[in-house]
Amino acid sequence: MSSFLTVRTRIAPSPTGIAHVGTAYIALFNYVFAKNHNGKFIIRIEDTDRGRFVEGAEQVIYDALTWLKIPHDEGVDLGGPFEPYRQSERLEIYHQHVETLLENGTAYYCFCSPEELQAMRAEQQKQKQLPMYDGRCSHIPYAEAKKRAKHEKHVVRLRMPDSGKAEWEDAIRGHVSFEYALIDDQVLLKSDGFPTYHFAVVVDDHMMQISHVIRGEEWISSTPKHLFLYEAFGWETPTFAHMPLLRNADHSKLSKRKNDVSLISYMNKGYIPEALINFLCLMGWSHPEGKDIFNLDEFRRVFTIDRMQTTGPIFDLNKLAWMNGIYIREKLTQDQLIEALQPFTPTDFPMDLMGKILPLVRERLVLLSDLESLTDFFYRDISVNPAELLKKSEAGVVTEQLTRTIAELEQLSQWSVAELETCLRSLQEKYDWKKSQYFMMIRVAVTGKTATPPLFETMEVLGREKTIERLREAKEKI
Ligand code: GLU
Repeated sequence: MSSFLTVRTRIAPSPTGIAHVGTAYIALFNYVFAKNHNGKFIIRIEDTDRGRFVEGAEQVIYDALTWLKIPHDEGVDLGGPFEPYRQSERLEIYHQHVETLLENGTAYYCFCSPEELQAMRAEQQKQKQLPMYDGRCSHIPYAEAKKRAKHEKHVVRLRMPDSGKAEWEDAIRGHVSFEYALIDDQVLLKSDGFPTYHFAVVVDDHMMQISHVIRGEEWISSTPKHLFLYEAFGWETPTFAHMPLLRNADHSKLSKRKNDVSLISYMNKGYIPEALINFLCLMGWSHPEGKDIFNLDEFRRVFTIDRMQTTGPIFDLNKLAWMNGIYIREKLTQDQLIEALQPFTPTDFPMDLMGKILPLVRERLVLLSDLESLTDFFYRDISVNPAELLKKSEAGVVTEQLTRTIAELEQLSQWSVAELETCLRSLQEKYDWKKSQYFMMIRVAVTGKTATPPLFETMEVLGREKTIERLREAKEKI
């Protein structure tokens, strides 16, 4: 029986660069699992690998999760009962704990130089053996090693048993087991005095009373080492759940090199955070009613971990774009959409016309950043390609069409969609012009584009003056 009083989950990102979509994915499930058990969700910063540390990367993680509206309860920024939440500020704690393991014999000092280790590895490769630390320093009597450690460069290693196995019931994968004999004597404390990931993660998860470790499947082979550490300390183990990794359609792992994995870049491209969240909910999990579109609140209510699958879900950008379009069209009110569009609204956009232009392009907005290319002809000079005007017709006919259209439009009593429609349709019928050719030609003349919002609505918003001016310019071009 678990003695954890409350459910506490965490993500433990390393500030090594961008905020990764994988981090948001793991954060989302940790957050939802905690909340659906009235628990707490924590962010701990794992910055002990000084070689990979990137200044500012921590803030990018907070910014990305704030954008996605995945709130945490404790962390460097918010504080909490188990401060500090940044590992580089917990060195004292790790040193105390390593002492315990050295004293009880589960850890030992190792004085091997990098050259010695390299030679060892080369020899093992030659012998076709698994490259592993051969344990030569594990035989140094503790008292002697302790003395040497005072003035000799050293690391501290975990003394893994030669037999037995690590076994656990993974909340996603079921029963998992690993032979201890195949696991290396992991370094716990490096020569720079910093702990390794394996050591710090166990000490901190224990001290921060993490009840469920929900993390990516790439950590599954580390779990046996962690379990052995829990055992060595005599600590209760949390429940482990290893989430399937996000994959490309060819089943390869998402990677920085091949894919756009930066959350900030999704934000800048004009994805709606709620759409990205909805999309991530379906990575490895399915809604009990088979729904595709649902919000975070609903996810919190219906999520159960037993619906997680183990096969790597495909991170399908087409599906994400489709969902984004749905959120833009159906899930946001016009005011919410205008607000979401704010960072993507060009400075010369006529805001007084936003309420009229937006409904015309909303259907075709897939990304918020599409706004400019879909609307620029309303407020910027257009360039019309004469060849487009003359498509499927002759210059004489097109000139006549334009002359008659201009004359009629100048007379129009009311500049409204209904009037415009009646006017242009009766002209087309009266002179028996080819419908598709005529309307496409007018569209190109007034917008410079072949694909636009509905023609009469567009002309209405453009206004009489601008529309007629553009028709005249088109006539001159022929
Ligand atoms: N620091 C690890 C990472 O960058 C944490 C892994 C874990 O959750 O144990 O993902």
